[in-house]
Amino acid sequence: MIERARFAPSPTGPLHIGGVRTALFNYLIAKKSGGDFILRIEDTDSKRTIPGAEKHIIDSLKWLGLDFDEGPINQSERQPLYKKQINFLIKNRLAYYAFDTPTELEEARKASGGDFKYNFKSRVEMANSLSLTEEETKERIKRGGFVVRMTVPENTTIKVVDQVRGNLSFNSEELEDKIILKSDGMPTYHLANVVDDHEMRITSVIRGEEWLSSLPLHSLLYKHFGWESPKFYHLPLILKSSGAGKLSKRDADEQGHPVFAVKWEESKGFKEAGFSSEGLVNYLALLGWSNSTEKEKYSLEELIDVFRETEINKSGARFDYKKALWINHLHLKGFTAKKLISLSEQASSQLNEKYSIQQSEEIVNLIKERLNTTHDIDKELSVFLRQPKEYDSNVIEKINREVIYDVLNFCKLNPALIANPGALKESLMAFGSKENISFGNIMKSLRLCLVGNLSGPDLFKIIQIIGPEEALNRIKSLTNKI
Ligand code: GLU
Repeated sequence: MIERARFAPSPTGPLHIGGVRTALFNYLIAKKSGGDFILRIEDTDSKRTIPGAEKHIIDSLKWLGLDFDEGPINQSERQPLYKKQINFLIKNRLAYYAFDTPTELEEARKASGGDFKYNFKSRVEMANSLSLTEEETKERIKRGGFVVRMTVPENTTIKVVDQVRGNLSFNSEELEDKIILKSDGMPTYHLANVVDDHEMRITSVIRGEEWLSSLPLHSLLYKHFGWESPKFYHLPLILKSSGAGKLSKRDADEQGHPVFAVKWEESKGFKEAGFSSEGLVNYLALLGWSNSTEKEKYSLEELIDVFRETEINKSGARFDYKKALWINHLHLKGFTAKKLISLSEQASSQLNEKYSIQQSEEIVNLIKERLNTTHDIDKELSVFLRQPKEYDSNVIEKINREVIYDVLNFCKLNPALIANPGALKESLMAFGSKENISFGNIMKSLRLCLVGNLSGPDLFKIIQIIGPEEALNRIKSLTNKI
């Protein structure tokens, strides 16, 4: 079956990674079948619309490569369509006008001891077109300020199927006659959502678990309209790393990781934190989908191929930033040197000053294995660009200052050796056995001097690239300081 799936965020704030994952699963299900992915902006609640949120949603999807085939389609521009469908429901008594004032509703709530439900039991006591005479109703409609509520039938079991959770049933007594048209003339989420999914010929509705409780209402609306309902998938929550509760911006801030794909106001997104879009997409796919193989690294194309809707998990998926970094690492190390250079403006200009394109690429290939984020590119390149700014004092204490001095002094006194890695290695070994210094400590001393700590790529490779002159400068520099 060729699917049409839509991502339907409300622009009430920036797009959180939970939403991004929903968009991704929609995209995968649509593309797997050769179908379309549609972006619909559910902006019927103007009071809650945040300026810039729609742009943030679109920027995020674009950066991630989740290109939509249709949209953005704004619900705020489709009012006549919803009005038409609401009129149909009213005509068939499947919806009704309700005129109750906030005070009347509050009184009803109080009288019922707090658990008031506007439903088949209470609606006869309230001011609506089902309880009032035709004349009174007409009069009240003229006055304006009414809402429209959908009619939920009495004592009915509503059976629904969620593709993730299976068969579910709800008793209509648990439901309310929800408002479907607000007093400002705008439809509510439930109505606009169902009408649009039908109008747009959506075949699969893939959304967050928080909407599962709306499913019986939606299912009833499909029935009221006489429409066939799409398939529903309610995705499990993304949980905070401690596992208890939904991941929020606050948890993410506390744990020191982003929660948006791209930046929002002052908050960095994964992009600004040095993630590749490939890495983030891959990690999010693994959250909530039980990949049954050992393979961890997937491109978007591969995901389209291997993702199975039947493998969506029922239970919440815990967000694990370390794992996200690991997946990002797998992608970064697979990129060409050229692409990695292009991901860091600083790296590309600084490498350009000192090295040829070929050398620059050779250097980047040496550090690929060591990257978790694109920010690590600059960090890892510094050894090829400048002298260490500082030296790791723990390493100095561990090896011993005198030993370091002796090793460096030996190199300083034999500058010709530095240009010849083979000879340098041999002489250092001989020097070590004569002075009773282990070869390990000799290499560590040299690394400390060239890099500033014990990390970095192969030492002789570093010397070869920075050149014997620069290596000697660094040796002299630390010999003077130690
Ligand atoms: N507008 C809803 C949201 O913001 C969409 C829910 C749905 O996909 O049906 O999540």
